[in-house]
Amino acid sequence: MLEEIMPRLYRIIIPLPNSPLKDLNSYVIKAKDRNLIIDTGFNRSVCFDAMQEGLRALDIDLSKTDFMLTHMHSDHTGLVSRLASDTSAVYFSRIDSKVFNENIDWQAMLDYALHNGFELEELIKAVESHPGLKYSPKKIPEFTLLDDGDIIKIGDYRLKCMLTPGHTEGHICLYEEEKQILFSGDHILYDITPHIESWSYELNSLKNYLESLDKVRNLPVKIVLPGHRNFFTDLAGRIDELKKHHEIRANEVLDVLGRNTMSAYDIAAGMSWDIDCENWEQFPVTQKWFAVGEAIAHLRYLESEGRIKRHKGEKTDTFSAH
Ligand SMILES: [Zn+2]
Repeated sequence: MLEEIMPRLYRIIIPLPNSPLKDLNSYVIKAKDRNLIIDTGFNRSVCFDAMQEGLRALDIDLSKTDFMLTHMHSDHTGLVSRLASDTSAVYFSRIDSKVFNENIDWQAMLDYALHNGFELEELIKAVESHPGLKYSPKKIPEFTLLDDGDIIKIGDYRLKCMLTPGHTEGHICLYEEEKQILFSGDHILYDITPHIESWSYELNSLKNYLESLDKVRNLPVKIVLPGHRNFFTDLAGRIDELKKHHEIRANEVLDVLGRNTMSAYDIAAGMSWDIDCENWEQFPVTQKWFAVGEAIAHLRYLESEGRIKRHKGEKTDTFSAH
């Protein structure tokens, strides 16, 4: 599905089957000499077909098109290597690009998951069915790396990169100052809450996220264009709701914890989740993965605020309020 947002700026809606996100917003800026596509969809034929259809309708020549990826998740990056031509620049966060370019220590992440209460068998299933691994780009294109403050110019659009760590460590929003447009990626969504997770003790992603919300809160904007679902206008209002949401979630973690000493996995099992399952045992294993990751992000944050304690265990780490 294709729609014009304002002159020369379009949205192509890319379906994401079986994902609670439903679909991805791919934004296209069509200019005289170069075009820019912001985010692409999974590396799956259903996404590729929707993208092709939209690009055909817009009469986009891919040999004159560059790409910008707001962050590393495969619903945003997956298709890029199938779309990019030899002459395409692919703009991408220097920090998030490390996931593709360096020998990431996956074992450390798995050990951390085990230490937070996952059983090995369940963990293997979670990794095998993780959409991030299944639908990521197979061939990695050469990136033009972005840092905070960099500018991408396309036609009469001047897009300023705003590093906004939280949803991922290297997430980047694009701000068009004169037109007052914020491409918010998955940093700020309107209809759903961006997923915040942590799979490393070093990473206090919720603290980073809250700081990144403040970083963009007071930008003058006429419209916010998020990575999923609907556009919106009240940036500060939505940010205040998101901050409130995480405060409520942090308090829920404290409630579940009560006077107990529990693993992150057991705390996640005791929290409420917006998912169509009777109980924790029925959760698909991928959803358990996301839930535990989110619980850890809140626990790590609460710990850094001195509100809970972490106890290092031989096999499993646990948390308590005192
Ligand atoms: Zn994402």
